[in-house]
Amino acid sequence: MHKDIATPLRTKEILKKYGFSFKKSLGQNFLIDTNILKNIVEHANLTEQSGAIEIGPGIGALTEQLAKSSKKVTAFEIDQRLLPILKDTLSPYNNVKVIHGDVLKADVKKVIEEEFADTPDVMVVANLPYYVTTPIILKLLTEKLPIRGIVVMLQKEVADRIAAKPGTKEYGSLSIAIQYYTEAETVMVVPKTVFMPQPNVDSAVIRLTVRERPVVEVKDEDFFFTLTRSSFAQRRKTILNNLTSQLPDGKAKKDIILAALEKSNIDPTRRGETLSIQEFGKLSDELFLDFTGNALS
Ligand code: SAM
Repeated sequence: MHKDIATPLRTKEILKKYGFSFKKSLGQNFLIDTNILKNIVEHANLTEQSGAIEIGPGIGALTEQLAKSSKKVTAFEIDQRLLPILKDTLSPYNNVKVIHGDVLKADVKKVIEEEFADTPDVMVVANLPYYVTTPIILKLLTEKLPIRGIVVMLQKEVADRIAAKPGTKEYGSLSIAIQYYTEAETVMVVPKTVFMPQPNVDSAVIRLTVRERPVVEVKDEDFFFTLTRSSFAQRRKTILNNLTSQLPDGKAKKDIILAALEKSNIDPTRRGETLSIQEFGKLSDELFLDFTGNALS
């Protein structure tokens, strides 16, 4: 048996061997605790028939555990300098493919079609680069990829916002965007000491289980998201004030907004953070014809 990659000693050895220096701008905080990695992988409930997509394999610490727990791993790594290192550290595993590139620019759907045709159960599992956690998660969800879910390490503060329930200060348009597509839960809170170098912020692991159908059915998805973002533009303002100031021609259409709020049984003096996703869905269906240019069609 070879040694696990994710120990402080082995990680230091690998970094030294290749003269690797961390790039802060790429969110490079590597995991050096095998137990944490095993825990992350456990939360993904992989089987020998599963496929795993990883974003940012680094020197392969998580990739190695995924390779042991699934049929196949495909990992996207932006930093060219890591490719020869990964080739070396992951040489014991013949079920890993590393794709060099920015995951935000990648055609992930095509990669899933090509790489996971024989593994219908696909999970995304990653220790995300913190400078792009939200864009990555939103890309994976809005592209409606054929995946079962996502288990990722990210900033605790972002995890709290993603999993937040109405009526809390963390609840906002990000909670809604993600809970629209998935069931979101924080499964681990992780100390800074398990990273090299240690990040400045606290970390957590969230699990997002993709819903068969969005949590609420809306007539116009784009408008629904515009509406939710507008409703939280200034958290201290009422829903009515946010919508009149944020929606196009909102001031001129104040009466329309008031009527829609009334029809949806939403008191105009409430704040966005008190509305459930279902209430936003109802309001969106009442308003979208008046704001999307479809009014006469
Ligand atoms: N998985 C490794 C671990 O847990 O030790 C490394 C995780 S580190 C937090 C994030 C990794 O993502 C780095 O290897 C970094 O180079 C890579 N990365 C950063 N931005 C990326 C992007 N846009 N696309 C793909 N990989 C990226």
